Amino acid sequence: MALIVQKFGGTSVATTERIKNVAKRVARWKAQGHDIIVVPSAMSGETNRLIALAKEISPSPAPRELDVIASTGEQVTIGLLALALQEEGLKAKSYTGPQVKVLTDSTFTKARILQIDDKRIRDDLADGNVVVVAGFQGADEWGNITTLGRGGSDTSAVALAAALKADECQIYTDVDGVYTTDPRVEPDARKLDKITFEEMLEMASLGSKVLQIRSVEFAGKYKVKLRVLSSFQDEGEGTLITVEEDKQMEQPIISGIAFNRDEAKLTVLGVPDRPGIAYQILGPIADANIDVDMIIQNIGHDGTTDFSFTVNRGEYGKAEAILKETTSKLGARGVTGDSKICKVSAVGVGMRSHPGVASKMFSALGAEGINLQMISTSEIKISVVLEEKYLELAVRVLHKAFGLEKAN
Ligand code: ASP
Ligand code: MG
Repeated sequence: MALIVQKFGGTSVATTERIKNVAKRVARWKAQGHDIIVVPSAMSGETNRLIALAKEISPSPAPRELDVIASTGEQVTIGLLALALQEEGLKAKSYTGPQVKVLTDSTFTKARILQIDDKRIRDDLADGNVVVVAGFQGADEWGNITTLGRGGSDTSAVALAAALKADECQIYTDVDGVYTTDPRVEPDARKLDKITFEEMLEMASLGSKVLQIRSVEFAGKYKVKLRVLSSFQDEGEGTLITVEEDKQMEQPIISGIAFNRDEAKLTVLGVPDRPGIAYQILGPIADANIDVDMIIQNIGHDGTTDFSFTVNRGEYGKAEAILKETTSKLGARGVTGDSKICKVSAVGVGMRSHPGVASKMFSALGAEGINLQMISTSEIKISVVLEEKYLELAVRVLHKAFGLEKAN
């Protein structure tokens, strides 16, 4: 017998029919003798609808009230799911986050979980109940309702699994696992049986939107065994996100090709080459709360150098305006930029012990005539910046170069 947390995403609970299916699936696990905690999201589209209602009244709604409103989507699905489980002949009880209580800080709309009181849940499980807990929400120390950021019910599920020391946290979603790359770009993408937390973090932060990034960080930190599965298929083991690389097995060198279209590049030309310059350029950018990703400074010539970095495309205009001011202060030659770039990355823990991954990547892209504008590396990732129009081609070329396609 095991304790299992099962999280169902918005599409899995989108209609009462689907909620009944979820109840049937939970009932099958329960029949095997497991203790089950279920964490549903709101019905798909519901959180958007609620936030839009708030915006009809106030263009920039007070975050505290927004959380009062947005958290109600999950209150509906927990009640409906508890009823559906009872119709299956099970004992079931639902709780909102604040009822549990899931204690968070007071950062409305993106609160962090501080602690979970497991008393009621444990008592109910011991009484034979399936316990249904609303995802995405909690309450701060004064009892104010908070939410955990969009996609936050993944994090709720992982946090509950950590607090109750569950044997496994299963995330049921509309895909059947984590893929080597987006199957819409490369139809030959293959489902991974396993991926490490580190790789998953790189894949998630690069745009493979299967799990909320914070839930992956949380699971890695508390060593929660996390599995992504399809809620629409009965078979399949999904993808297991593991803590450690399996030392017994030969690791694939590259586990996946991630990408992000949402990037823009800025360059300050002819910056005086002297100490403190990087800070003078990036300080005002950081003060404006703009995230910087890749940074490149070339060697200087005649006392000046060029300084480039990438930002989220949505912040391109803001960053450019700030840089123009900095440029005149520094006496630099000017600012150029490009908002039509993308980032493509090869991710894999196996590259730690295998040299030559970068050269293989560059040669494959070069052979297709794709120009690399920027390159950055970490221990388990190599990223390149390219013109956006080459994104699909680059992903497919790399997927093939690293032998990631389905065996057939
Ligand atoms: N319902 C919330 C959202 O749409 C939380 C979640 O689905 O994970 O962001
Ligand atoms: Mg989600």
